[in-house]
Amino acid sequence: MDYDVVICGAGVGGLTLATALGQRGHRVLVLEKQRRFRMMHKGELIQPRSLHVLDSLGLLGPLSAGGALPVAALAVLGHDGAPLVSLDYGMIPGPYRHGMVQSYREMLTTIADSLGGAVTLWTGARADGLLRDDAGRICGVRVQRGGEQDTVTAALTVAADGHASRLRDAAGLAVPAHRYGHQLVGFELADAPALGNRMNAYLTRDGLRALFALPGGRARLYVQVPAGAFRDVGRAGAPRWADDLLRGMPALEPVAEPLRQGLDTVQVLSAYRFVAPRWALPGLALLGDAAHCVHPMVGQGMNAAIRDAWTLGAWLPGAREFEPARVDAALAGYERQRRPDLQFTARLSHNLATLLTGTSRVGSALRPSLLRRNQTNDRLRRQITENVAGLTARRFTVRDWLSASGLIHGSKTSANNARTEEVNR
Ligand SMILES: Cc1cc2nc3c(=O)[nH]c(=O)nc-3n(C[C@H](O)[C@H](O)[C@H](O)COP(=O)(O)OP(=O)(O)OC[C@H]3O[C@@H](n4cnc5c(N)ncnc54)[C@H](O)[C@@H]3O)c2cc1C
Repeated sequence: MDYDVVICGAGVGGLTLATALGQRGHRVLVLEKQRRFRMMHKGELIQPRSLHVLDSLGLLGPLSAGGALPVAALAVLGHDGAPLVSLDYGMIPGPYRHGMVQSYREMLTTIADSLGGAVTLWTGARADGLLRDDAGRICGVRVQRGGEQDTVTAALTVAADGHASRLRDAAGLAVPAHRYGHQLVGFELADAPALGNRMNAYLTRDGLRALFALPGGRARLYVQVPAGAFRDVGRAGAPRWADDLLRGMPALEPVAEPLRQGLDTVQVLSAYRFVAPRWALPGLALLGDAAHCVHPMVGQGMNAAIRDAWTLGAWLPGAREFEPARVDAALAGYERQRRPDLQFTARLSHNLATLLTGTSRVGSALRPSLLRRNQTNDRLRRQITENVAGLTARRFTVRDWLSASGLIHGSKTSANNARTEEVNR
């Protein structure tokens, strides 16, 4: 075999796995179809549980040194900027009582720069298809690189090639992806005013607007629009579109000028939801968005990819025992362990995203008072914050729902019913 592991895709999932395996002495090749990491408006919020993983891999220091900012809370506000509810990381236990924000490109660059000598990264190299041995086991990939077709063999092939994964399809694991009915129009704002250390989600009748600081005096603004609506606006119509947006939302006034100056940074992103039916076949593992996709606005997708990488790395045998039979047994363990946690994350993301992005008249009218009421319910706020942080996978009980909707009072934990799982892997 050319390598122990070939990882297809140098997103956060693929690079985290490469780091973990490289540190254990595996011979790893990472293939990335892009020639360089591009500016992408996605994957900015790192949750506390992922900070733990990145710290364990020695990546937290370089990320902090690269300017990543701590995040104290996820704040939900009305369209006028009035606070509704805040998920404060200070409420959670443990050493990582904050999140962290960095732009995706910088994050990937930092991790790629920290890869050890056991890892080789080929950029401008697209994995085109899977290789199989005589028994049908996947044993590597075909690669397009510099106009040439090549093959790479490995005891394990990892599809970390994102939500539209070509390798997943090549393996016959195609998924019916649900596409949400809205898109997110993202901007990178330069010379933004100080926005504090919270990520702000403004709820409006037209949908969610998210605004938060990025390192280097920049800020990210996401604006929810109906799917396809921004296509009709186009570049020529963007200044007028921005004026309309700002007129309807005085809370965005502090970033009005940076937005007008930053209209050409626009990226329009769709939101998908799916969980692939299988994440492992003999010789192949799916990881990150290739295996599952969740609504982006709850800050879970990248964190799920990091957790996948951590879990898969922990299951895989050491470099000296890296034989196909052992690898395949480890893949089954990876899927068995990760799938229930991911199912929880998928439900959590969908439910919270539905709450945050809903535009129905009735829902929009009821939502502020419901959320405001929960600001005083510390037990529920802590429970949701711990779930979002990736520390627990604790479902709401009937009592929780009644309490959240204000039908009963009380902040005692219903210990009998709560399914609490410490996620400490
Ligand atoms: C608007 C938006 C905001 C988001 N914000 C957050 C957030 O704040 N927090 C969070 O946790 N998540 C967030 N997410 C989700 C997060 O970005 C993804 O879940 C995460 O990037 C998935 O990482 P990945 O490594 O699995 O895939 P990707 O990041 O998609 O990386 C896949 C890589 O594979 C490469 N590739 C593709 N095909 C091939 C091929 N055939 N051969 C070689 N290389 C290939 C691609 O070029 C890419 O570099 C957001 C998503 C969106 C859309």
